[in-house]
Order: sequence, then C-alpha cells, then structure tokens
Amino acid sequence: MDAQEFRRLGYQLVDWIADYRENLERLPVMSQARPGEIRAAFPDHPPLHGGRMAQALAALDRDVLPGITHWNHPSFFAYFPSNTSYASILGDLAASGLGAQGMSWQTSPAATEVEEVVMDWLRQMVGLSPAFTGVIHDTASTATFTALLCAREKGSDFSQNEGGLQTRGLGSAQAACGGQRGDAERAEASGRSPLSGSGGEAPLVVYASDQGHSSIEKAALLAGFGRSFLRLIPTDDAHAIRLDLLQAAIEKDVEIGLRPCALVAAVGTTGTTALDPVAALADLAEKHGLWLHVDAALAGTAMVLPECRWIWEGVERADSLVFNPHKWMGVGFDLSAYYVRDPQHLIRVMSTNPSYLRTAQDGQVSNFRDWHIQLGRRFRALKLWFYLMDVGVEGLQARLRRDLENAQWLKDRIDAAPDWARLAPVPLQTVCLRHVKPGLDEPALAAHNLEIARRVNEGGKAYLTPSVLKGTQMLRVSIGAETTERRHVEALWEALEAAKA
Ligand code: PLP
Repeated sequence: MDAQEFRRLGYQLVDWIADYRENLERLPVMSQARPGEIRAAFPDHPPLHGGRMAQALAALDRDVLPGITHWNHPSFFAYFPSNTSYASILGDLAASGLGAQGMSWQTSPAATEVEEVVMDWLRQMVGLSPAFTGVIHDTASTATFTALLCAREKGSDFSQNEGGLQTRGLGSAQAACGGQRGDAERAEASGRSPLSGSGGEAPLVVYASDQGHSSIEKAALLAGFGRSFLRLIPTDDAHAIRLDLLQAAIEKDVEIGLRPCALVAAVGTTGTTALDPVAALADLAEKHGLWLHVDAALAGTAMVLPECRWIWEGVERADSLVFNPHKWMGVGFDLSAYYVRDPQHLIRVMSTNPSYLRTAQDGQVSNFRDWHIQLGRRFRALKLWFYLMDVGVEGLQARLRRDLENAQWLKDRIDAAPDWARLAPVPLQTVCLRHVKPGLDEPALAAHNLEIARRVNEGGKAYLTPSVLKGTQMLRVSIGAETTERRHVEALWEALEAAKA
C-alpha cells in the first residue's frame, strides 16, 4: 500500500466508523453470533498474494460486525462501560500513524513528555495532590500486579543487586510463577509462603475484601504471595470491607508470626460499586506497616466531580492507586492511570538496565519502560490528550452527572415497585436489582432472574449482566455509555418489566 492508497482507504474507513456510530442504536447490543460462526466466514489459510485491503474493508460489515457486542451502544448496561469517544479514536489513529515506541525518553521524547503532562492534568482533575506521580499502564490488572510487586519489595535491599529484580523474594516468586511450580506448591502445602525464602523469613500476607476484583487475587498469585496468604475479608451490608474483621485478621497473622504486607482498598467494587473506607484502611495500613493500594478502576473517574470526592477520602495516604480512563471516562481501551507516591521505589522494583537500553539522557528524564512490566509501549497519551482537548473538564463533569442522575432515576423506580428488590446502595452509576416473583423459592427465583437477563439480552434492545452477590442471583445495570440518555434507561426499565412476566 502506498500513501495515496492509504489516504483513499483511510477516508473510507473513517466514514465507515462514523456511519457505524451513527447507526449504532439500530443494532442488537449483544452480538447474536453463535460460537464458531464468525470464524467460519474466514478462509483457513492466509492470502498468498496481497492487495486485498478493499476486500478486508468490505468484509468488516459482512463478517466482523455480526460478531461485535456494541460497547458504545446507548443501551449497553453490562459490566462497566468502556467508552471510546471520537476524539480518542483520532488519538489512537495519530499514535498508530506515528508508530513510535516510547520505551525510553530518547526513543520519542514526546511520548514521555506528553504522557507526563496529561497524567498530571488527570491528577489535578481527580483532586489528587502533587505528591502522586502517574504513568499509563495498559490495564488495572497490570497496575495492581505492579503495586503488589512494589509492596513485596518494600524494605528489600537492592544494593546487592544493582537495582534489578534480583531481590530476596523473587527467586522463590519465580518458583511460584514459573517452571518450579512444584516447589511453590510444596511450600504452600507446608504452610510456608512461596515468598518465605531460604532465609526462613516469615511469609508475607495480602488483604482485600471478598468483593475485591479478581485481578487482586491474580496479582497476589503472580507476585508469589500464595493463595494461603491472601485474606479476602468479609464485607458488611453495604458490601464494604469489615474493618473489625480486617483488624482481627492482621492481628492474628502477626500473632502467628506472619508478615502483613499489602492491603488493597476497593473503591467501587465490580459487583455493586461498594466503597471501602479508605481513611480507616490507611490508619490500619500505617499502624501495621502495610502497603496501601487503592483500586478505583471505575470510581476514579467520578472523582472529576468534586461532590464525589468524599468517596475516597484518605486516598492521599495510599502508596499507589489505579483507575481506568478506559472505563467510564471516554478514552478507548486500553488506558489505565497508575499513580504512586514514590516513583523511585517503583523504578527500583521494575527496572533492568542492560547496556543496549542505556541512553545519554538517563538520569535527567523518565524512561517509562522502568515504570511497568513490559518494555515497549505505545503512545497512549495521545488519545487521552485528544479526549481532554475535545470534552474539557466541564464537558466530562456534565456527562458524569447525567449518568449519576440516570442511576438515581432507576433506583427510585425499583424502590417504588413492590415486586423488584434493590440489593445494594447506589453511590455511583451501577444499580443491582432482582425481580421477586411471589411464590418462588430461592433456586426458582435465581432461574427466573436469569431468564429475565436472557430475554433482555437476546432481545437485542439492551444488554445487562446477570451476576451473583453473596449467593443471590441478581441483575446488574451499569449506566455510563457516552450516548446513554434518560430515554434509554426508561426503555431498559420497560424491557425489564416486560421480561418479568
Ligand atoms: N478493578 C475493578 C474494580 C474492576 O471493576 C475491574 C474491571 O472491571 C478491574 C479492576 C480490572 O480492570 P482491567 O480490565 O483494566 O484490568
């Protein structure tokens, strides 16, 4: 393909995207494809001769679109939103066009410096103090994994290892994650953490609530803490962590000679957007020398609204926090904002320093390859920059307030309806409900609610997530697609009423 052909096809593709977005509302929200159906439309072998881009573009409509669930559809109420605004699409296109790999400052100074600027803008937007420094990660899962690695290495002596990952814990953590898995399993079985090391140090323990995201468990396992040293603390009626039980668990661990290491606060759980009390968790973390990581994957965006900031009061005392502009905000997947209070510790934990990566500017600049797991990095900051330039803080605030009001509207409908029950508070934009049909026992009620979800989702007019909250089958409505207006929430309510019959 030459530049002229690129121009021609590029305009065509931009038109295709704009048409797709304009007509989105007419499409079924959840893909109606059956397993294998999309794959069957593709040849088994790669094309021997090229020059088929026009065919590929034509096949987008015919062969790909039927297999797309439309996350930017105004009636997308499933999971958490993942908005990709027009401006963000253009930012991604610009980043692809530049094709720059920003692993080091020198490999494209703009990739580093634009990121520094927009991560600082974002910090100001959510009301965090300059004590925090941000870096873009791909996902919250990676950021939380990074945070647990930093927690694990807190207090490690790096001097013997020239600042690399060859620290005390890692040899045994590798056993947990890699080929010597048997050793790690044996260590766990014998009550020793895979991280207890040959020196016989006491095992390290991680704490989170039983409503914390599965990425916390994954991170704790990958970082080598071991399943037996991850404490998922029960939650209260509002599904926030029980402080009394957390404190008791920490004290018991200390008593039996374990080493409490990290605490992950969930600010906006995935199930119900429950809010762990960050200030009280910070007190406990301080008292016991724990690393405090805040997972505000969805809720962080709400902090752009000053009236929501009570939600994470105390966040200034966290060691690290993550939230996802690729969720409710409008910056297309993937872009996760990871903030730390001690970037030097992060760099010490994450950096390797082979000769081929060294540059003349090292020491004067940030080399973001040392701020996360992977080496190479896309110029993601461009899509965040474009997005912020397009909507501005006030534009984003207006949309978030609209979504919060829509959630309250739905909450009021549920509260007023005798046959619907609401299962959790609605501090943000997610509403958890179930239909309570008289005369049905619990298993029958679960089946009934699953059937409601099936009817709504397969009907194509809306898409929500059936989920289980502490053993109770529920329907989870997550509001916040960029294009969702009140009328779409009203239509969802009508669809739920129709499906309950
Ligand atoms: N934390 C919470 C509270 C989430 O809701 C999610 C995903 O929905 C995650 C973490 C993981 O996000 P990511 O897909 O960016 O890894």
